[in-house]
Amino acid sequence: MKFFIRTFGCQMNVADSFWISSALVSKGFEVTYQEKDADIILVNTCSVRKKPEEKLYSFLGRIYPYFKKNPELIVGVGGCVAQQLGEKIWKKFPFVRLIFGTDGVPYVPQTITKLISTPSLKISLLDFKDFYPERDIVIEEELLNNHPVAYVNIMQGCNNFCAYCIVPYTRGRQKSRHSEKVLEECKRLVDAGVKEIMLLGQNVNSYGKDKYGDGVSFEDLLVKVSKIEGLKRIRFTTSHPKDISDKLIELFGKLDNLCPAIHLPLQAGSNRILKLMGRKYLKEDYLRIIDKLRKVREDIVITTDLIVGFPGEREEDFRETLDMVKRVEFDSSFSFKYSDRPGTRAEKMEPKVPEEVKSKRLKELQNIQDELTLKSMNKLHNQTVEVLVEGRSSKQLKKGVVSFRGREPGGRVVNFLVNKEMVPSVFIGSIVNIKITEVKKHSLFGEVRK
Ligand code: SF4
Repeated sequence: MKFFIRTFGCQMNVADSFWISSALVSKGFEVTYQEKDADIILVNTCSVRKKPEEKLYSFLGRIYPYFKKNPELIVGVGGCVAQQLGEKIWKKFPFVRLIFGTDGVPYVPQTITKLISTPSLKISLLDFKDFYPERDIVIEEELLNNHPVAYVNIMQGCNNFCAYCIVPYTRGRQKSRHSEKVLEECKRLVDAGVKEIMLLGQNVNSYGKDKYGDGVSFEDLLVKVSKIEGLKRIRFTTSHPKDISDKLIELFGKLDNLCPAIHLPLQAGSNRILKLMGRKYLKEDYLRIIDKLRKVREDIVITTDLIVGFPGEREEDFRETLDMVKRVEFDSSFSFKYSDRPGTRAEKMEPKVPEEVKSKRLKELQNIQDELTLKSMNKLHNQTVEVLVEGRSSKQLKKGVVSFRGREPGGRVVNFLVNKEMVPSVFIGSIVNIKITEVKKHSLFGEVRK
């Protein structure tokens, strides 16, 4: 039987979908990248951004004709929206037969087998488990598809309850994964040809600091992973400014394969708004962290998340956010207009900022960020950087040349061309020196150097 998985949202969902795919392939199922060819369609959802339900509904609406044609089609909905809506999904879309939350992921393959053998069955896997939802480590090389970068979950959930965030409700409380399991998965991935690993958690800095921890801190875990032979690069996300330690910062100067890049969500530049958000740090603390990071690694790429128009945000609060953006000079940022997430504290907070004010603020912020991003990328102009070749690129197609894309250590995408006859047989996954010859708004272009 063939299965198709559509994934919305963060890298954690990508990692979960990859695991489900690997587990299904190991059970004899075949992957398809076309919904119309599938006997099983799964959608892994995300509720962090706006309109997640609409996205899910529109996806289910689109695949309904396939179910009409083939009533044996098995449709499953997983992830954060599934956790949030639960069995309500069945009322609206009775053809859905499987609903699973984030802790239900390990049980999906065996549940699909059950659904195949009993066509009248519908199953929901929505309970939060009182343990990290560990699963067998299955890595199907065919699914890695020569991709040299892999995501590894090191924990699940979050205990922070930031006022605007739905994660603690949809992913449950923080549960750290056993460090030996993380290491085993990383080693297996490297053996399968992976060159770069991104360690994932909602708040990696508090890894191990919950009742599921095994005494290994995030810093210790990072050191252990960095020692895996053949692993060229490590990254991690997401960090929380209130939990980041000096020991972690120092590792940027000590571990050769730890990439000089950190995503450190600021969210707002006003201490009053940070307090309302429940972020538990001041802007001064944030600035101190940035100073330390840059002392250890001058070239570190710092990215962030920002929310504009949080309930109660006044013009002067927003100006403080702009001020922080200019002071830190983020290399890039993800910025969003605040929107209510059901059940969060911020949903009940007043006054709400009018939509047009939020839009205006967002535009102003993004214009400033665009300039800073360009300034940051321009620093690479005419520099030679090490690029991990990730795959072909669709850009700049010319006769006789192949276009590739990869990332430099700071995480920025670099596109470059290679003459067809010069492409080595094993090129994807190698690290090549690229001289940056052109800087565009959001991408870099370069040429191979010896
Ligand atoms: S730290 Fe805050 S924003 Fe991040 S996942 Fe936890 S509750 Fe959400």
